[in-house]
Amino acid sequence: MTTMRSSDGGGASRFSVAQCGACGVETDTPSGVCPICADERQYVPADTGQVWTRVADARGGAITLREREPGIWGLVPAGVTGIAQEAKLIVTPGGNVLVDVPAFIDDATVAAIRDLGGIAAIVPTHPHMFGVQSLYADAFEATVWVAEVDAGWLQRRPARLQLWTADVEIVPGVRATQTGGHFPGSAVVHTIGADGAGVLLAGDTIFATPDGGVTFLRSFPNRIPLSAAVVRRVAAHVTDRFAFERLYSNFQLRVPEHADAVVLRSADRYARWVSGEYDHLT
Ligand SMILES: [Zn+2]
Ligand SMILES: [Zn+2]
Repeated sequence: MTTMRSSDGGGASRFSVAQCGACGVETDTPSGVCPICADERQYVPADTGQVWTRVADARGGAITLREREPGIWGLVPAGVTGIAQEAKLIVTPGGNVLVDVPAFIDDATVAAIRDLGGIAAIVPTHPHMFGVQSLYADAFEATVWVAEVDAGWLQRRPARLQLWTADVEIVPGVRATQTGGHFPGSAVVHTIGADGAGVLLAGDTIFATPDGGVTFLRSFPNRIPLSAAVVRRVAAHVTDRFAFERLYSNFQLRVPEHADAVVLRSADRYARWVSGEYDHLT
């Protein structure tokens, strides 16, 4: 991984970009406390306090591309800064879409993505997933689609930034919609799998759970819930628009079948619990 540095298309500038040592999000202003980590949805690590680092400091890290299903690749990080999210690359004839963004980039990753056709567009599902999106955008001359309502969380502005609201078709057959919930502009991305079934890439917006269901939270590390009304709204929003057999969340979690029905069923369970319907069981 260290032999290709001299061919790095971004030159020294790519590796000199600063990022938060905890969430890994890129920044042009590495001073004070990272706004994303200071927010109640994240946290500043108690042991280290706020640390700013540079992409260069993660050299020795790596991203491995793994095909999660035909046409959808996971970018699996190892030894990198940040929360180690697994971004997904949707490969389509009309251009590839990167959903969520690693907090690390190197020449090997760029080359591997280029072998799959590059990146036409980048869609972070919410600000925790900005990663080093401006660097991926520069490497592939890709447009970064950021929810307008959450644009205030950008600490570094991509050169090709497209603010968006509501619903958008990113490339033919790949649609994004803002459900809100985790963030006001939290989004999901829908595509059609090679078998013709709908597939939803849900980031943290809708989060797969070990029992085969999903959950919805304002904060994952701090376990802050959402209300019954919001959870029902998010589930209705996405299932009204899309049919999807499979759902992929962050960290290699997924719902392998009947995912749209699972979302509705899980939302109903959640809403009943936070509404007090089961308080007699507690
Ligand atoms: Zn941070
Ligand atoms: Zn998040």
